[in-house]
Amino acid sequence: MFNRMFIGRNGPDQLSFALIILSLLLSFVPWPYMFIITFAITGLAILRMFSRNIAQRQKENLFFMNLVNKIKSWYYRSKAKSQQRKLYKIFKCPKCSQKLRVPRGKGKVSIKCSKCGYKMIRTT
Ligand SMILES: [Zn+2]
Repeated sequence: MFNRMFIGRNGPDQLSFALIILSLLLSFVPWPYMFIITFAITGLAILRMFSRNIAQRQKENLFFMNLVNKIKSWYYRSKAKSQQRKLYKIFKCPKCSQKLRVPRGKGKVSIKCSKCGYKMIRTT
């Protein structure tokens, strides 16, 4: 029954699902006119589900999923970076601007650039 409702139509996808979640979250915002926005977002999600222009809706969903993946990978990369910063200090080679990773708390160390062989003394 539920599946038959969407024959020839786009049906629920990640973007529509995200729009419904968004409108649910926004409904908690204590602003008297928020219902207009949440109503519009929910309406948009429903219109997308019942849309017969499947190709266009799939394009939108794909665009949305790409965006989500970009945000996800950015988040995990910045998380890994901040974890690395706790253990390592990053220096930039003054000669070739290669980034060099040195473990923290070793005091004064001599660092040799892995790319151009430039030597420098730095405190970690
Ligand atoms: Zn270098």
